[in-house]
Amino acid sequence: MSDYYIKIIPAGSDRRISPQTADRAVKYLQSCIIAYSVEAHIYETPAFVDCGGYLQDISCPYCGKSLFTEWWTEAMNKAYENNFRKLDIKTPCCNKDSSLNELQYDFPCGFACAEIDIMNPREELMEECIIEVEKLMNTPVRIIYSRV
Ligand SMILES: [Zn+2]
Repeated sequence: MSDYYIKIIPAGSDRRISPQTADRAVKYLQSCIIAYSVEAHIYETPAFVDCGGYLQDISCPYCGKSLFTEWWTEAMNKAYENNFRKLDIKTPCCNKDSSLNELQYDFPCGFACAEIDIMNPREELMEECIIEVEKLMNTPVRIIYSRV
């Protein structure tokens, strides 16, 4: 059986969260959702936080052209060379400035220096919990649903 995760990441790829703040968010989430586990991970440089088996397409935020998989794989390899510190790209389809973090991932994915993983939740994450976590972490967040 595969595992299902709800991952919460700061919307900005370079936004840092202290271990204390991450702890507070974990404790809060444990009180608002029933799940197998709730864990925080903090990274030195941005990590790609993906939706696992839910990934169907990656497309341009401007013109909607699919950039999956050849162009994207190459862009990811390039960005990985400097540990995802620089995510700027020029879209190959319409030649516009963008970022790997701003592409249209279906389902959503993102880059972050911190993530909170809710493993095998038995219920949906309520909107009010998300708002409270944003307050605790003092940043807008992105919610990523992932199956691995
Ligand atoms: Zn485009």
